[in-house]
Formats: sequence, C-alpha cells, structure tokens
Amino acid sequence: MRMRRKTLAISITDGVVTVKAPRTTSVEYIEDFVGRKSDWIQKKLAEHSRKTAYLRSVLDYASVLYRGEQHVISDTSEFKRIKCENGILYLPQKYAEKDGGKAAVCAWYKRTAAKELEARLNEISAATSLAYKTFRLTNARTKWGSCDGDCNIRLNWRLVMLPPYLIDYVIVHELAHTKHHDHSAEFWRTVGSFYSEYKAARNALKTYSVLTSLYR
Ligand SMILES: [Zn+2]
Repeated sequence: MRMRRKTLAISITDGVVTVKAPRTTSVEYIEDFVGRKSDWIQKKLAEHSRKTAYLRSVLDYASVLYRGEQHVISDTSEFKRIKCENGILYLPQKYAEKDGGKAAVCAWYKRTAAKELEARLNEISAATSLAYKTFRLTNARTKWGSCDGDCNIRLNWRLVMLPPYLIDYVIVHELAHTKHHDHSAEFWRTVGSFYSEYKAARNALKTYSVLTSLYR
C-alpha cells in the first residue's frame, strides 16, 4: 500500500502482512525493510497458523464450536432434530444430504443464540443495573456486538461459538455503551468495574475473529 504517510509501517492481521509506505519510498528500500523484519513476520505468521489450526475443522465445517468447545459433526438417522451433547453434534441424515447440513446447523446456532444470548444479556443487565432498550441478533461481518444511541443492543449470533467468559465480556462491553457511547477512558472504567479482566478478554476475542466469516 502506497500512502500519504511519512514512515514505513508493517502490520499483520488475520495472517495477512501489510506494509504501508510513503509514495516516494523505493521498492528496494521497502524490500530491505521487510527483509530486516522477516524474523518477526515469520514468528507472527507461525503464531497465526497455530491459532487457526485449532479452529481448522470448524472452518472446514467438519465440527462446530459451541460455548468454546469443539463438537464433531456426526450424521444420524436416530434423531429428527439437531442434538448437541458430549462433544458431538448429531446431524439428522435429511439435513446432511442437502448441503452437508450447513443450513440446518446455521439455523440451530441462531435458535440457540436467540435463547441463550438474550437470557445472559438480561442476567448481566440486572446484575449491573445497565438497562438496554431492545435486543436483536445480527449477522454482522466483523462485529460481535453493537449498541446504538437509543441503547438498542445487537449481538452477533456467532457469539454462542465462544467460551462463556468472552460472551460475558461482549455483553458487558455493549451494556457499558448504554452509559458511554464511545470508547473513552470512562467507558473502559465502567467496563472494568464489572469485568476486571477485560484486557485479556479483548485479546482473546481477536483469535476468534476468523469465525465471523463462517456460515455466509
Ligand atoms: Zn464498543
């Protein structure tokens, strides 16, 4: 990327290396810069593939992530509806035959999310005295949640894939926006007063960002 900037910068997001350089910088200089950073780049990319390796079978739709735990998908003629227990998601044959079960699993996720996320939102809202107006699930591409100026909260249905402590973090984050509609220091103080480990949760959440591309 050539930009109107004064310095060279290199960043890695979701396994993609980006170098931002001033328009006038020569290709040789950029190559040399990247070369000098190659150890760091290799380390970051290895880290990324290690993290996504854990999610590989989820990304391949061979297993599902539910509340932070992987469940392998197993076709069954025993049940009529999807059932998720003991590390296995039982997928009725009729769904499996259609599209590998993708649509049915997606619908199951959304049903589960509608119930579980709203219940948890209400529990945390009551415990923190942070009130919201309406709740809806979203299919957002990058965001886990949002809270608009009227205190309407939206949560990405894929949140049910995450470990409960991260679901709680996102809910606390959005509820804190009912008091502060920005990411000011006061906002983070409010988050921290209800969820002290929020910095660790924010970082952990990044490792799951790849999941927002699933079931599109
Ligand atoms: Zn926010």
